[in-house]
Amino acid sequence: AADMTKQKLTVRLCGPRGFCAGVDRAIQIVVLALKKYGAPVYVRHEIVHNRYVVEGLQERGAVFIEELSEIPEDHRDCPVVFSAHGVPKSVPADAQSRNLFYLDATCPLVSKVHKQAMRHHRLGRHVLLIGHAGHPEVIGTMGQLPEGTVTLVETVEGANTLARPDGAELGFVSQTTLSVEDTADILKALEDRFPDLHAPAAESICYATTNRQEAVKKAAPGSDLFLVVGAPNSSNSRRLVEVAERAGAKRSLLVQRASEIPWDEVDGIRVLGLSAGASAPEIIVNEIIDAFRERFDVTVELAITAEETENFPVMRAIRDVELTSA
Ligand code: SF4
Repeated sequence: AADMTKQKLTVRLCGPRGFCAGVDRAIQIVVLALKKYGAPVYVRHEIVHNRYVVEGLQERGAVFIEELSEIPEDHRDCPVVFSAHGVPKSVPADAQSRNLFYLDATCPLVSKVHKQAMRHHRLGRHVLLIGHAGHPEVIGTMGQLPEGTVTLVETVEGANTLARPDGAELGFVSQTTLSVEDTADILKALEDRFPDLHAPAAESICYATTNRQEAVKKAAPGSDLFLVVGAPNSSNSRRLVEVAERAGAKRSLLVQRASEIPWDEVDGIRVLGLSAGASAPEIIVNEIIDAFRERFDVTVELAITAEETENFPVMRAIRDVELTSA
Protein backbone atom coordinates (compact mmCIF):
# COMPACT_ATOMS: atom_id res chain seq x y z
CA ALA A 1 0.00 0.00 0.00
CA ALA A 2 1.15 3.50 -0.78
CA ASP A 3 2.50 5.44 2.14
CA MET A 4 0.13 8.39 2.51
CA THR A 5 2.63 10.44 4.47
CA LYS A 6 5.15 10.47 1.66
CA GLN A 7 5.07 12.73 -1.34
CA LYS A 8 4.68 11.04 -4.72
CA LEU A 9 7.74 10.87 -6.94
CA THR A 10 8.01 9.48 -10.46
CA VAL A 11 11.44 8.09 -11.21
CA ARG A 12 12.09 7.94 -14.95
CA LEU A 13 14.70 5.25 -15.29
CA CYS A 14 16.65 5.28 -18.54
CA GLY A 15 17.44 2.20 -20.58
CA PRO A 16 20.04 1.50 -21.77
CA ARG A 17 22.05 2.72 -18.77
CA GLY A 18 25.15 1.61 -16.90
CA PHE A 19 27.69 -0.98 -17.94
CA CYS A 20 28.54 -1.31 -21.62
CA ALA A 21 30.10 -4.37 -23.22
CA GLY A 22 33.60 -2.85 -23.10
CA VAL A 23 33.44 -2.12 -19.36
CA ASP A 24 31.95 -5.50 -18.63
CA ARG A 25 34.77 -7.19 -20.57
CA ALA A 26 37.50 -5.15 -18.85
CA ILE A 27 36.22 -6.05 -15.38
CA GLN A 28 35.90 -9.71 -16.40
CA ILE A 29 39.51 -9.70 -17.58
CA VAL A 30 40.74 -8.61 -14.15
CA VAL A 31 38.46 -11.09 -12.33
CA LEU A 32 39.47 -13.99 -14.59
CA ALA A 33 43.16 -13.10 -14.37
CA LEU A 34 42.87 -13.15 -10.57
CA LYS A 35 41.21 -16.57 -10.74
CA LYS A 36 43.74 -18.02 -13.14
CA TYR A 37 46.99 -16.50 -11.87
CA GLY A 38 46.12 -15.53 -8.29
CA ALA A 39 46.79 -12.20 -6.56
CA PRO A 40 48.28 -9.78 -7.16
CA VAL A 41 47.17 -8.79 -10.63
CA TYR A 42 48.43 -5.34 -11.55
CA VAL A 43 46.12 -2.95 -13.36
CA ARG A 44 47.53 0.08 -15.13
CA HIS A 45 45.17 3.01 -14.49
CA GLU A 46 41.63 2.63 -13.10
CA ILE A 47 40.32 -0.32 -15.13
CA VAL A 48 37.13 1.70 -15.67
CA HIS A 49 36.41 5.10 -14.15
CA ASN A 50 34.45 3.95 -11.13
CA ARG A 51 35.65 3.90 -7.54
CA TYR A 52 33.19 1.21 -6.45
CA VAL A 53 34.44 -1.14 -9.18
CA VAL A 54 38.08 -0.34 -8.43
CA GLU A 55 37.67 -0.94 -4.69
CA GLY A 56 35.82 -4.21 -5.32
CA LEU A 57 38.71 -5.46 -7.46
CA GLN A 58 41.28 -4.24 -4.93
CA GLU A 59 39.57 -6.39 -2.30
CA ARG A 60 40.03 -9.41 -4.57
CA GLY A 61 43.74 -8.70 -5.02
CA ALA A 62 44.06 -6.26 -7.91
CA VAL A 63 46.77 -3.62 -7.45
CA PHE A 64 46.24 -0.36 -9.32
CA ILE A 65 49.24 1.49 -10.68
CA GLU A 66 49.71 4.43 -13.03
CA GLU A 67 53.01 3.34 -14.58
CA LEU A 68 54.60 -0.04 -15.25
CA SER A 69 57.72 1.08 -13.36
CA GLU A 70 55.67 0.74 -10.14
CA ILE A 71 55.63 -3.06 -10.47
CA PRO A 72 58.29 -4.42 -8.07
CA GLU A 73 61.19 -6.44 -9.55
CA ASP A 74 60.09 -9.66 -7.84
CA HIS A 75 56.52 -9.31 -9.18
CA ARG A 76 57.45 -9.27 -12.85
CA ASP A 77 55.76 -12.60 -13.45
CA CYS A 78 52.41 -11.23 -12.21
CA PRO A 79 50.06 -10.22 -15.00
CA VAL A 80 49.38 -6.56 -15.70
CA VAL A 81 46.10 -5.45 -17.26
CA PHE A 82 45.75 -2.31 -19.40
CA SER A 83 42.51 -0.38 -18.86
CA ALA A 84 39.47 -0.24 -21.16
CA HIS A 85 40.42 3.26 -22.32
CA GLY A 86 43.39 2.04 -24.33
CA VAL A 87 47.08 2.83 -24.09
CA PRO A 88 49.71 4.49 -26.29
CA LYS A 89 51.83 2.06 -28.30
CA SER A 90 54.74 2.83 -25.97
CA VAL A 91 53.01 0.98 -23.09
CA PRO A 92 52.93 -2.58 -24.52
CA ALA A 93 56.43 -1.90 -25.88
CA ASP A 94 57.59 -0.91 -22.40
CA ALA A 95 55.89 -4.02 -20.94
CA GLN A 96 57.75 -6.20 -23.42
CA SER A 97 61.08 -4.61 -22.64
CA ARG A 98 60.44 -5.24 -18.94
CA ASN A 99 59.48 -8.85 -19.67
CA LEU A 100 56.00 -8.37 -18.24
CA PHE A 101 53.00 -10.52 -19.07
CA TYR A 102 50.20 -8.18 -20.04
CA LEU A 103 46.51 -8.50 -20.81
CA ASP A 104 45.18 -5.61 -22.85
CA ALA A 105 41.61 -4.76 -21.77
CA THR A 106 41.28 -1.93 -24.28
CA CYS A 107 37.67 -1.92 -25.49
CA PRO A 108 37.46 -3.32 -29.04
CA LEU A 109 35.60 -0.16 -30.03
CA VAL A 110 38.52 1.99 -28.85
CA SER A 111 40.89 -0.29 -30.79
CA LYS A 112 38.70 0.32 -33.82
CA VAL A 113 39.28 4.07 -33.48
CA HIS A 114 43.03 3.42 -33.17
CA LYS A 115 42.89 1.48 -36.43
CA GLN A 116 41.03 4.28 -38.18
CA ALA A 117 43.59 6.84 -36.98
CA MET A 118 46.40 4.58 -38.24
CA ARG A 119 44.60 4.17 -41.56
CA HIS A 120 44.42 7.96 -42.08
CA HIS A 121 48.11 8.16 -41.25
CA ARG A 122 49.00 5.35 -43.64
CA LEU A 123 47.15 7.19 -46.40
CA GLY A 124 49.32 10.23 -45.75
CA ARG A 125 46.70 12.24 -43.85
CA HIS A 126 47.30 14.38 -40.79
CA VAL A 127 44.88 13.15 -38.11
CA LEU A 128 42.44 15.41 -36.28
CA LEU A 129 41.25 13.80 -33.05
CA ILE A 130 38.06 15.29 -31.62
CA GLY A 131 38.20 14.76 -27.87
CA HIS A 132 39.12 16.05 -24.42
CA ALA A 133 42.75 16.78 -23.51
CA GLY A 134 44.18 14.61 -20.77
CA HIS A 135 41.58 11.82 -20.96
CA PRO A 136 43.34 8.43 -21.02
CA GLU A 137 41.52 7.44 -24.21
CA VAL A 138 42.83 10.56 -25.97
CA ILE A 139 46.35 9.89 -24.68
CA GLY A 140 46.03 6.31 -25.95
CA THR A 141 44.72 7.26 -29.39
CA MET A 142 47.33 9.99 -29.90
CA GLY A 143 49.96 7.48 -28.81
CA GLN A 144 49.17 5.16 -31.73
CA LEU A 145 50.97 7.51 -34.08
CA PRO A 146 54.27 9.41 -34.14
CA GLU A 147 54.37 12.71 -32.29
CA GLY A 148 53.17 15.66 -34.34
CA THR A 149 50.96 13.63 -36.68
CA VAL A 150 47.76 14.02 -34.61
CA THR A 151 46.11 17.30 -33.58
CA LEU A 152 43.53 17.36 -30.81
CA VAL A 153 40.39 19.42 -31.48
CA GLU A 154 38.38 20.05 -28.33
CA THR A 155 35.81 22.68 -29.28
CA VAL A 156 34.16 24.54 -32.17
CA GLU A 157 36.54 27.45 -31.44
CA GLY A 158 39.43 25.02 -31.66
CA ALA A 159 38.13 23.87 -35.04
CA ASN A 160 37.78 27.47 -36.23
CA THR A 161 41.34 28.42 -35.37
CA LEU A 162 43.06 25.25 -36.52
CA ALA A 163 45.80 25.67 -39.13
CA ARG A 164 46.29 22.95 -41.73
CA PRO A 165 49.70 21.45 -41.05
CA ASP A 166 51.90 21.95 -44.16
CA GLY A 167 49.07 21.62 -46.64
CA ALA A 168 48.57 17.97 -45.67
CA GLU A 169 45.35 16.12 -46.31
CA LEU A 170 43.27 15.71 -43.17
CA GLY A 171 41.34 12.83 -41.66
CA PHE A 172 39.40 12.78 -38.39
CA VAL A 173 38.45 10.36 -35.65
CA SER A 174 36.93 11.09 -32.25
CA GLN A 175 36.89 9.88 -28.69
CA THR A 176 34.23 7.16 -28.24
CA THR A 177 32.40 8.86 -25.38
CA LEU A 178 31.63 12.36 -26.69
CA SER A 179 28.34 14.17 -26.89
CA VAL A 180 26.82 13.24 -30.24
CA GLU A 181 25.55 16.80 -30.78
CA ASP A 182 28.71 18.66 -29.72
CA THR A 183 30.75 16.42 -31.98
CA ALA A 184 28.44 17.13 -34.91
CA ASP A 185 28.94 20.88 -34.29
CA ILE A 186 32.74 20.54 -34.18
CA LEU A 187 32.69 18.39 -37.28
CA LYS A 188 30.57 20.91 -39.13
CA ALA A 189 33.05 23.67 -38.26
CA LEU A 190 35.92 21.48 -39.48
CA GLU A 191 34.14 20.57 -42.72
CA ASP A 192 33.34 24.22 -43.42
CA ARG A 193 37.03 25.03 -43.25
CA PHE A 194 38.40 21.85 -44.77
CA PRO A 195 35.88 20.51 -47.30
CA ASP A 196 38.31 17.72 -48.23
CA LEU A 197 38.38 16.39 -44.64
CA HIS A 198 38.27 12.58 -44.69
CA ALA A 199 35.88 10.73 -42.40
CA PRO A 200 36.91 7.48 -40.73
CA ALA A 201 35.56 4.31 -42.36
CA ALA A 202 33.52 3.67 -39.20
CA GLU A 203 31.84 5.97 -36.66
CA SER A 204 34.03 6.67 -33.60
CA ILE A 205 31.38 7.47 -30.97
CA CYS A 206 30.36 4.05 -29.70
CA TYR A 207 26.92 2.42 -29.56
CA ALA A 208 26.83 2.63 -25.74
CA THR A 209 27.50 6.37 -25.69
CA THR A 210 24.87 7.01 -28.37
CA ASN A 211 22.24 4.78 -26.75
CA ARG A 212 22.69 6.25 -23.25
CA GLN A 213 22.39 9.78 -24.60
CA GLU A 214 19.22 8.86 -26.53
CA ALA A 215 17.53 7.42 -23.44
CA VAL A 216 18.47 10.50 -21.41
CA LYS A 217 16.92 12.71 -24.09
CA LYS A 218 13.70 10.75 -23.75
CA ALA A 219 13.55 10.94 -19.95
CA ALA A 220 14.86 14.47 -19.37
CA PRO A 221 12.03 16.74 -20.61
CA GLY A 222 9.93 17.74 -17.60
CA SER A 223 12.29 16.22 -15.03
CA ASP A 224 12.72 18.42 -11.94
CA LEU A 225 16.05 16.79 -11.30
CA PHE A 226 18.15 14.40 -13.34
CA LEU A 227 20.76 12.21 -11.66
CA VAL A 228 23.50 10.43 -13.55
CA VAL A 229 25.39 7.77 -11.63
CA GLY A 230 29.03 8.16 -12.52
CA ALA A 231 32.45 9.44 -11.56
CA PRO A 232 33.77 12.97 -12.19
CA ASN A 233 36.54 11.52 -14.39
CA SER A 234 34.07 9.48 -16.46
CA SER A 235 33.73 11.25 -19.79
CA ASN A 236 30.57 9.49 -20.97
CA SER A 237 28.83 10.09 -17.61
CA ARG A 238 29.60 13.81 -17.69
CA ARG A 239 28.20 14.03 -21.20
CA LEU A 240 24.93 12.47 -19.94
CA VAL A 241 24.61 15.27 -17.37
CA GLU A 242 24.97 17.87 -20.15
CA VAL A 243 22.57 16.04 -22.45
CA ALA A 244 19.94 15.88 -19.67
CA GLU A 245 20.10 19.61 -19.07
CA ARG A 246 19.99 20.41 -22.77
CA ALA A 247 17.02 18.10 -23.28
CA GLY A 248 14.94 19.91 -20.66
CA ALA A 249 15.79 18.63 -17.18
CA LYS A 250 15.55 21.58 -14.76
CA ARG A 251 18.76 20.50 -13.15
CA SER A 252 21.14 17.61 -13.59
CA LEU A 253 23.90 16.23 -11.43
CA LEU A 254 26.54 13.55 -11.36
CA VAL A 255 26.50 11.35 -8.24
CA GLN A 256 28.83 8.48 -7.36
CA ARG A 257 26.75 7.02 -4.51
CA ALA A 258 23.40 7.64 -2.78
CA SER A 259 25.32 9.47 -0.05
CA GLU A 260 26.02 12.28 -2.54
CA ILE A 261 22.36 13.08 -3.22
CA PRO A 262 21.77 16.72 -2.12
CA TRP A 263 18.57 16.07 -0.12
CA ASP A 264 18.04 19.73 0.77
CA GLU A 265 17.65 20.49 -2.94
CA VAL A 266 15.45 17.49 -3.66
CA ASP A 267 12.49 18.71 -1.61
CA GLY A 268 9.34 19.23 -3.65
CA ILE A 269 10.45 17.46 -6.82
CA ARG A 270 7.83 15.35 -8.64
CA VAL A 271 9.83 13.83 -11.47
CA LEU A 272 13.34 12.47 -11.17
CA GLY A 273 15.28 11.35 -14.24
CA LEU A 274 17.86 8.64 -13.57
CA SER A 275 20.59 7.11 -15.67
CA ALA A 276 24.07 5.70 -15.19
CA GLY A 277 27.28 6.07 -17.17
CA ALA A 278 28.88 3.13 -18.94
CA SER A 279 31.25 2.51 -16.01
CA ALA A 280 28.62 2.65 -13.24
CA PRO A 281 27.36 -0.62 -11.70
CA GLU A 282 23.62 -1.28 -11.45
CA ILE A 283 23.89 -1.87 -7.69
CA ILE A 284 24.40 1.89 -7.23
CA VAL A 285 21.35 2.68 -9.35
CA ASN A 286 19.36 0.44 -6.98
CA GLU A 287 20.97 2.08 -3.96
CA ILE A 288 19.79 5.46 -5.26
CA ILE A 289 16.24 4.32 -5.98
CA ASP A 290 16.09 2.79 -2.47
CA ALA A 291 17.27 6.06 -0.94
CA PHE A 292 14.44 7.88 -2.72
CA ARG A 293 11.93 5.22 -1.61
CA GLU A 294 12.78 6.00 1.99
CA ARG A 295 11.71 9.60 1.52
CA PHE A 296 9.12 9.46 -1.29
CA ASP A 297 6.27 7.30 -2.53
CA VAL A 298 8.17 6.22 -5.64
CA THR A 299 6.76 4.99 -8.93
CA VAL A 300 9.40 3.83 -11.41
CA GLU A 301 8.69 4.51 -15.09
CA LEU A 302 11.02 3.16 -17.74
CA ALA A 303 12.38 5.36 -20.55
CA ILE A 304 13.69 2.77 -22.96
CA THR A 305 15.07 3.69 -26.36
CA ALA A 306 17.09 0.63 -27.37
CA GLU A 307 17.92 -2.96 -26.54
CA GLU A 308 21.59 -3.80 -26.28
CA THR A 309 22.91 -7.25 -27.07
CA GLU A 310 26.61 -6.42 -27.54
CA ASN A 311 29.00 -8.77 -25.80
CA PHE A 312 32.77 -8.68 -26.22
CA PRO A 313 34.59 -11.93 -25.42
CA VAL A 314 37.76 -11.88 -23.33
CA MET A 315 41.12 -12.90 -24.82
CA ARG A 316 42.02 -16.54 -25.31
CA ALA A 317 44.61 -16.66 -22.51
CA ILE A 318 41.89 -16.45 -19.84
CA ARG A 319 38.82 -17.70 -21.71
CA ASP A 320 39.19 -21.21 -20.28
CA VAL A 321 38.82 -19.86 -16.72
CA GLU A 322 35.40 -18.58 -17.57
CA LEU A 323 34.34 -21.90 -19.07
CA THR A 324 35.36 -23.99 -16.09
CA SER A 325 34.03 -21.67 -13.37
CA ALA A 326 30.51 -22.04 -12.08
FE1 SF4 B 1 33.78 0.54 -25.29
FE2 SF4 B 1 31.97 2.44 -25.65
FE3 SF4 B 1 32.07 1.14 -23.38
FE4 SF4 B 1 34.03 2.84 -24.00
S1 SF4 B 1 31.88 3.35 -23.59
S2 SF4 B 1 34.26 0.82 -23.11
S3 SF4 B 1 34.13 2.51 -26.22
S4 SF4 B 1 31.57 0.25 -25.39
